Amino acid sequence: MSDNCIFCKIAAGEIPCKKVYEDAEVIAFHDIHPAAPVHFMIIPKEHVVSLFDAHARHEALLGRILLLAPILAKEQGLDDGFRTIINTGAGGGQEVFHLHVHILGGNKPRPM
Ligand code: 5GP
Ligand code: ZN
Repeated sequence: MSDNCIFCKIAAGEIPCKKVYEDAEVIAFHDIHPAAPVHFMIIPKEHVVSLFDAHARHEALLGRILLLAPILAKEQGLDDGFRTIINTGAGGGQEVFHLHVHILGGNKPRPM
């Protein structure tokens, strides 16, 4: 747990969230400012700052998060598909420096 990390506090249950899923290693919760009709994030409970800070020992954890994405997306009604975004570093638009995978859907996304 990193001091003053909002997502660590959410993972620890110290700050409330609209929870989608939780197990020993990850938690998923709705974004406080949704950018789509359905917008939630999947995060590791471990404080990993970003993909820049992910290492070989995180391989299984990252795989688990990606494999959870379609399961949780379907549970949230996104049978049609969803967009996955990982912002990395200030140059990638990251604002919360605890690794998170955005899952968005329920509208027609802008073409990339
Ligand atoms: P980033 O730009 O770092 O990829 O995304 C951070 C996301 O976290 C933003 O979409 C923002 O709305 C969301 N966020 C920031 N603070 C909170 C919070 O306290 N609770 C929740 N549920 N989402 C948050
Ligand atoms: Zn953190």
